Amino acid sequence: MKLLIMGPPGVGKGTQATLLKDQLKIVHLSTGDILRSEIKKKSNIGLKAKSYMDAGKLVPDQVLLDIINDRITERDCIEGYLLDGFPRTLNQAIGLDNIMSSIHHSLDSAISLVADSDELVQRLIKRGIDSGRSDDTDEVIRNRQKIYWEETAPLLDYYKEKNILKEVNGIGDIKEITKRILEKIK
Ligand code: AMP
Repeated sequence: MKLLIMGPPGVGKGTQATLLKDQLKIVHLSTGDILRSEIKKKSNIGLKAKSYMDAGKLVPDQVLLDIINDRITERDCIEGYLLDGFPRTLNQAIGLDNIMSSIHHSLDSAISLVADSDELVQRLIKRGIDSGRSDDTDEVIRNRQKIYWEETAPLLDYYKEKNILKEVNGIGDIKEITKRILEKIK
C-alpha cells in the first residue's frame, strides 16, 4: 500500500505515521527526519537544508524530489510506504506523480489530518520546550503554519480531484485516531 499523510504542523502526523507503519507493515518515510539526519551527518543536503529548516521555511523542491526518488526506488519500498511531510507543494506533488508512475507505483490514499490551528500552535510550543527542536520556537511555528495553509493546503484539492483524499479528524485519543484512519483507507 502506498500512502501519504498530510496535516498542519503539530497535528500528530509523525505519531500516526509510526503507528500506521507498524500496523500496515510498510516503510515510514518522513522527509523531516531524513533532513534532520542529513544535518547531523553534515552532508551536502544537510548543509543546504539547515538554514531553511531553522527559519521554518520549505527546503527547495528539487532537494526533496531527489531524496524521494532515491528512497522509494529502494527494495524495502516495493511492498509499500507511507510518506510523511511530503509532498508539501504542488510542484512536489506533480514531481511525486512522475517519479511514481516511472516505477509503476500508484498512490492508494492521501490521508489528511484535520485540526484547529490555534490548538496546534500551543502544542508545538510545548513540544519545543520539551524536545529542544530548534524549529519549534513561537515565530518559526507561526511561519510553518502559514506556509502550510498557503503552500500545502492546496494539495487537498489536488488529491480530492484524484478521488484519493481521506479526511480524518486529528483531535482526540491517539489510538482512536489511528482507528479512524484505518477505517478510511481499507
Ligand atoms: P517536519 O518534521 O515534517 O515538520 O519538517 C521539518 C522541516 O523540514 C520543515 O519545516 C521544512 O523546513 C523541512 N521539510 C520537511 N519536509 C519538507 C518538504 N516536503 N518540502 C520542503 N521542506 C521540507
